[in-house]
Amino acid sequence: MLKTVLVVEDEPLNIKLLKDVLRYAGHAVIEAVNGQEGVDLAIANKPDIILMDIQLPIMDGMEATRILKANPDTRNIPIIALTGYAMTGDENRMREAGCDGYLSKPFKVAELLRMMNSMSGQNSAGDA
Ligand code: MN
Repeated sequence: MLKTVLVVEDEPLNIKLLKDVLRYAGHAVIEAVNGQEGVDLAIANKPDIILMDIQLPIMDGMEATRILKANPDTRNIPIIALTGYAMTGDENRMREAGCDGYLSKPFKVAELLRMMNSMSGQNSAGDA
């Protein structure tokens, strides 16, 4: 099932990796390089799913997730948190902020695609 994926990530190598993988899988990719841009682009584009880095400039991924989950227009978009710092409690904090899935870097591409597919029912009203 093809999706529009919003990637909120500030690390150029990670952006390139995610873009390559997602496009290869047939998805359309929108990029945001900080949390505020992520919130703005999510509201403007209503992507099918959001991949959210946690450590981001201007606004971090936790705050961006809270804002999107508090907004009736965006709260149903599944958010997968991608974190580089595997601190104890990090996953719990992101889940409390409202994210729907969580992967710590480095993760396997197959694992990411599997998680995306498992969430496809949550926001797929328009999908065939
Ligand atoms: Mn980052």
